[in-house]
Amino acid sequence: MIFNESIGDDTISDLEPSIRPGSFSEFIGQKDIVSNLQVFIKAAQIRNEPLDHILFSGPPGLGKTTLARIIAALQKGEFRQVSAPNLKRPGDVVKILSGLGKNDTLFIDEIHRLSTPVEEVLYSAMEDNQVDITLSDGLGAMPIQLDIPPFTLVGATTRPGNLTAPLRDRFGIHLRLDYYNEDEIVEILKNAALKWGISYENEAIVEIARRSRRTPRVSLKLLRRIWDYAIAHNNIQDGIINLSIANGGFQQMQIDNLGLTALDNKFLQILAENFQGGPVGLKPLSAALSEDVVTLEEFVEPFMIRLDLVHRTSRGRVITQKGYGHINFPAPIHGQRMLYE
Ligand code: ADP
Repeated sequence: MIFNESIGDDTISDLEPSIRPGSFSEFIGQKDIVSNLQVFIKAAQIRNEPLDHILFSGPPGLGKTTLARIIAALQKGEFRQVSAPNLKRPGDVVKILSGLGKNDTLFIDEIHRLSTPVEEVLYSAMEDNQVDITLSDGLGAMPIQLDIPPFTLVGATTRPGNLTAPLRDRFGIHLRLDYYNEDEIVEILKNAALKWGISYENEAIVEIARRSRRTPRVSLKLLRRIWDYAIAHNNIQDGIINLSIANGGFQQMQIDNLGLTALDNKFLQILAENFQGGPVGLKPLSAALSEDVVTLEEFVEPFMIRLDLVHRTSRGRVITQKGYGHINFPAPIHGQRMLYE
């Protein structure tokens, strides 16, 4: 059982419905975002309008989809979900928009990946609740405008900087989700353990939280894997998760004490060894690691930057003193100079 791949991008979708928070009261953490949303939703309800369009940004697995679902439930409309790469042609998005009902919430994941023609359809839908379509009856093409009911578009992105200005400007609200603190992850894990009927000792849950990259999705996934390990280890179905079981599981999954995977550590190693600590672009790193650039940019790098193991400079990625320390690699004498250029 090696977690060689990045653990952030994998979903636990088959298990999610049973544990996904269905209301703000069940949603742990992100207090400022939740209280802002509560105000905006209340104001929209008083005005008898759907909530303004919202853009959620932040690393994967932090709760963007979950918040969108909660918004949909509070607006008492349907929740529709689509991922931007699946909207290939303008017709794809017109079809979805024309099927929307009043107060529905349309969630578009990875919204920075929309193509320009698809994006342009969204502009008039977001601004004027209209889409332009062309009907063809064999004699010629006839442009008509289709009205769509008031709805809320919720866009989610891991890269807000990649959105075009016209699209970004059409979102009335932009909220950025940040990594959770360890206590919040502990709470999320305990709630999930209760729902899944997992027995645990407190210190084991704290250890899982510590290695969860401050990310709910990662924490839930690790809990499942450690639970598997406990069951297999004790050879009984209700294996209790204690600290020694958790540590044994982490060792087997190659997840270290900071929650870094084998891939993360290899990233640091290659940066230090093959590229003399950097600066180096992601492309050469991706070639050396045989891993695609998107995985490195969206799943591997953000958390290491957050931990201060890697810095992103205008000339590329550089390993920090802390990064050298983490992989026990001797830092070059002039490393410091390169770091802060
Ligand atoms: P994103 O859309 O940002 O990738 P999701 O909303 O899909 O993330 O959340 C990933 C998983 O983590 C889901 O299983 C969800 O139930 C859980 N989760 C996310 N945020 C929270 C939270 N604040 N409290 C409890 N569970 C959460």
